This record gives sequence, structure tokens and C-alpha cells, in this order.
Amino acid sequence: MPSEDRGKSAQFVPIQFVFRNKLTKDDRLQMAFDALVLSQLLGRNVSLGKIIHGDDHATLKVRTGARTTESARTLVTSKGLAAEVRKRLEKVAALLSNSEPPDLVLNRHCAECEFQARCRKIAVEKDDISLLASMSAMERQVLRSKGIFTVTQLSYTFRPRRRPKRMRDKREKYHHSLKALAIREKKIHIVGSPELKIEGTPVYLDVEGLPDRDFYYLIGVRIGHGDSAIQHSLWADTVEDEGKIWRE
Ligand code: SF4
Repeated sequence: MPSEDRGKSAQFVPIQFVFRNKLTKDDRLQMAFDALVLSQLLGRNVSLGKIIHGDDHATLKVRTGARTTESARTLVTSKGLAAEVRKRLEKVAALLSNSEPPDLVLNRHCAECEFQARCRKIAVEKDDISLLASMSAMERQVLRSKGIFTVTQLSYTFRPRRRPKRMRDKREKYHHSLKALAIREKKIHIVGSPELKIEGTPVYLDVEGLPDRDFYYLIGVRIGHGDSAIQHSLWADTVEDEGKIWRE
């Protein structure tokens, strides 16, 4: 942006384009990182960044290193943002300065990573515990501190326990060790005894949508009738149709 006042220098504003309607914290961190790189290259402050996103090309202004909180709805602050970027950069620098590769931990980013096939192959060969996707980093750390590094090791730790009477109606907690056991034995384990008592007319409802657009485009309804069933599929091609399919 050219300077408006004499004596003030022009401002550099990094701009990113994101196709999604809903932005995440990662988008803001990415913007703060870009601003930091640009500012170090130019040797001057880059305090503002813009993210143009979504179907309507909305603009989100990101204060990449500002110290004060602005009240405008579209202005996202960033004392925390800049600090977090720096914190993460320190971690990256520590990883890069280490001659050993970091521990392999499969995670939710793997799906969009170029090394996915390679890492997964290694994890399978090592029977790595991070193959259990639902396990949190903290849970993994606790297991590692106990010397449990593989799915097979974990599978031997499952002990079925009789539940106290007062807990009978409560939902059984999720056991990673039971999942590991199921994988080792190639068996399906069912927690508790499933009871299906359906009184009246069973209706199965399935709604599908695009969370990024808050738009529901399909409602499927299956209505049981004796041994047979009737099925309806209600489609919305446009946002205007959406209310119509819900009413139908
Ligand atoms: S595929 Fe490998 S490098 Fe990529 S995010 Fe997953 S673990 Fe990390």
C-alpha cells in the first residue's frame, strides 16, 4: 500500500487466497509466518496480512504482529499469533539442528503430506502405536513412558473387567488396548451386549451436507414397514431448495 503521508514508508501486505469459506487457526498462523518472513527479508514491519477466501471472496484482515486488540470483526489480532509462530519456528529449528530424524508419529496431517506412503509403510513395519489414529499425543506419551511402543505390545495390556453395578448404565470407556487386541487377533470385539428394541415405526434419517458452506444438499429417509421399507431421497441443488427439502 503506497504511503498516504509524506515521511511514512509504503506498507507491504502479504495476501493469501484460500478456497474454503471457513478459515482455521492454521490459515492465520500461515499468514503470520509469511508476514514474518517478508518482514525479515525487507527489514521492516509487516503488521497486516489479508486472506481472501470462500465463494464470495471475503477478506479477512490479520494483524500479524500488532500489540493491541482491535474491535473490528474482521480484524484478527495477533500478539499471540506472532508469539506462536516464533514458538513453532524454534521447534522446527531444534528438529533441523538434530542429526537424528524426528520420531515418526502418524497424525491428521499425513493425508495431505507428500511422505504419506513412505511414513505409513515404516509405521506398519514398526507396528508403531501411532497407527491407532484415535489416540492423543498425551496418551501415546504415557504409554511410551511405560515402554509400550507397538500396537502388539499394547494389545497384551487389555484386561476385561467386571463393571461395578453402579456403572452398569454408563457407557463403557474407550479402550485403545482393546482395539489393539482386535487388530492382533483379527476379531471384532463388542463391548457389552447390544440390545435393539424398536417400538413403533423405525425411521432411518441420513443428512448430508458441506460443512464449509453450512449447506445440506441431501436428506435420505428410510421408513420401515413390516418386512419392507420405503425410501426417499430429497436433493437440494441450490441454497433456495434447501428449505424445501426440509419441509418435504
Ligand atoms: S506423512 Fe510422515 S512426514 Fe508427513 S505428516 Fe505424516 S508422519 Fe509427518
